[in-house]
This record gives sequence, C-alpha cells and structure tokens, in this order.
Amino acid sequence: MQLAKVVTRAAEGRTVRSVHLRIGALRQVVPDTLAYAWGFVSRDTGLGSAELDIEWVPAAIECPEGHRNEVGPLDGLVCPECGLPGRVISGEEFTIVDIDVDA
Ligand SMILES: [Zn+2]
Repeated sequence: MQLAKVVTRAAEGRTVRSVHLRIGALRQVVPDTLAYAWGFVSRDTGLGSAELDIEWVPAAIECPEGHRNEVGPLDGLVCPECGLPGRVISGEEFTIVDIDVDA
C-alpha cells in the first residue's frame, strides 16, 4: 500500500498515532476493506498503533449549463437537473490531510 510508505516517510521514525485522510466517493474505497488492508500494512511497517481517521468527500459534478450537484455512486456523471454529462469537481480525492506523531 502506497499510503503506508508515504506515512512512514513523513513520520521520520516517530511513532504515528493517527492518519487523517480525505477520500472521495469516486475512489470506490470500501471502508472495511481499507481498514482491513491498513491493519495488515501497518503491522508490517511499524505503524501498528496508528489509526485511520477518514473524511469522506461526496462526489459532485458540474454540467455545461453550470449546475453543480452531488451525485451518488449509482447516478453516473449526468446532471440531475438537465441530463447533460458533467465533469467531476469533487470525489476523486485521496489525500493525506494530517499525520499525528508522538513528539
Ligand atoms: Zn445541468
């Protein structure tokens, strides 16, 4: 998992307490799967006690008419107001917002 590498590097040998992530709905990350994978990876990398603190970002699109709407996973990327295909304006995030380490 790429995430563990980045976190390990950022921690510079300090004990990581928690990792604050922002994940967009379009990433199709399943919370349970992520927690499971994190449990595995964190044990192998010395991040064993670090917790994941995840902020979920809803998917949103903007259509050519300028309508901005949140869309659900089954809605597709079509404007619910006019039916035109929109471009994604949020929901593709996978960002490490913050890492708490022991001083
Ligand atoms: Zn529209």
